[in-house]
Amino acid sequence: VDRRTVEDVIDLLKSRGLRMTPQRRAIVGEVMAAAGHISPSAVARRVRESRPEVTPSTVYRTLSLLEEIQVLSHTHLEEGAEYHRRSDSPHVHLACSVCGTQDSLSLAEADRLRDLIAEHHGFRPDFTHFAISGVCARCQEP
Ligand SMILES: [Zn+2]
Ligand SMILES: [Zn+2]
Ligand SMILES: [Zn+2]
Repeated sequence: VDRRTVEDVIDLLKSRGLRMTPQRRAIVGEVMAAAGHISPSAVARRVRESRPEVTPSTVYRTLSLLEEIQVLSHTHLEEGAEYHRRSDSPHVHLACSVCGTQDSLSLAEADRLRDLIAEHHGFRPDFTHFAISGVCARCQEP
């Protein structure tokens, strides 16, 4: 864990008038230590290993506050919304609807599709908000 980052986030929350309880600190610590995206239920499960008194509603509320102050953002995956640190580079999620495997594309790789949509529809897509559902290479093998 990058200690400074966790402390920065805690300072940000304090500046918004939020009382920093040990429970909230534990939630911030888990979320900042997670690799890639993490579901609210996974955050709750991990935090409750050391702090069983933490309720799921405290976890949900803290995560949405972290999104409000732009530390996190959410993406809709097959099993529901998950959170990313906003500092991670934005990417497009590819979710296999057969085996559940997840892969990702950089936004640069999605540029051509974005330009095509913009050119033909004048629409600016946000590929990061929802996963693209489909079938992975392995599941296509006969
Ligand atoms: Zn991701
Ligand atoms: Zn698959
Ligand atoms: Zn959403």
